[in-house]
Amino acid sequence: MTDLQTRPVETSCPAAHDARLAVGPVLERYDEREVPLGGIRAARVQRTLPHRELPTVGAWCFLDAFAPGEPPMNVLPHPHIGLQTVTLPLEGQMLHRDSLGSVQLLEPGELNLMTSGDGIAHSEFLVDDAGARGLQLWVALPHESRFTEPAFEHVRDLPVVAYPGARVTVFLGEHDGAASPARTFSPLVGAQVDLDPGTRIALPLRPDWEHAVQVTDGVVVAEGERLRPGPLLYLGTHREHVTLEAPETEARLVLIGGEPLEEDLLMWWNFVGRRHEDVVAAREDWEDAERRVARFGVVEGHDGARTPAPVLPLVRLNPRRRRP
Ligand code: MN
Repeated sequence: MTDLQTRPVETSCPAAHDARLAVGPVLERYDEREVPLGGIRAARVQRTLPHRELPTVGAWCFLDAFAPGEPPMNVLPHPHIGLQTVTLPLEGQMLHRDSLGSVQLLEPGELNLMTSGDGIAHSEFLVDDAGARGLQLWVALPHESRFTEPAFEHVRDLPVVAYPGARVTVFLGEHDGAASPARTFSPLVGAQVDLDPGTRIALPLRPDWEHAVQVTDGVVVAEGERLRPGPLLYLGTHREHVTLEAPETEARLVLIGGEPLEEDLLMWWNFVGRRHEDVVAAREDWEDAERRVARFGVVEGHDGARTPAPVLPLVRLNPRRRRP
């Protein structure tokens, strides 16, 4: 998936060091918003990150939930800079192609992780008419790693931490001694938590990190907050654990977290930069036939079709601080 809004605006993600390190344990619900991807007949996703009041959670800077719909969510080649894309199907299969030559079928329980460095292009297509349901997340590359070599990883055997009535599948980073083999550039966790009916557990957290949870299936009561699929529940920092309960049926959620990011980010379309000029240059390179190939490469299999970049906004947005 991608950010294919026709008129995206810049989103400033100011550094967290003076804003969120001192947050402490909180419970803040951030409702999802429906975002159309692309033109008039647009597929729709439910987005919870970035939120104007919560730009990042650790280095996690983007969270979309997608589901089968009309039109289907097939995304032609498009560019990325400054991030890693994390694709997690919950139902259905997807086919990933990228400008490194990767062609990878992705199934539920598996991870696709693409590291853009300063330029990569990819496409994501559904495999059958039934469509797919799942999540796509982005992780911002820290400043010193933003020009790292582009890379693609597909992981089939993700580590699972078992608790009574619960299984935690660590797709990125680390949780409770288990680490995903996929490469990360900052301390973080991304994990899927499956709860049996009636389970109530206290899941250990890193108190020096910030965390958030989002339900994908069923009903979960997290720290007393009843959640269905949709909103993101931000937990803040300084927590030793989060209590999770599946009061009715089996349920599933994702846990994201990490060391609060101490950098200002500027997100526009599919780019994570530091300055307005970064995204302007990336957009111009994608729209220029020669510079596009030189910087982003070619995704084979689409006969040259691609997703054109939207127009840049005329107005520069001021950075938004999450807290005074
Ligand atoms: Mn993408």
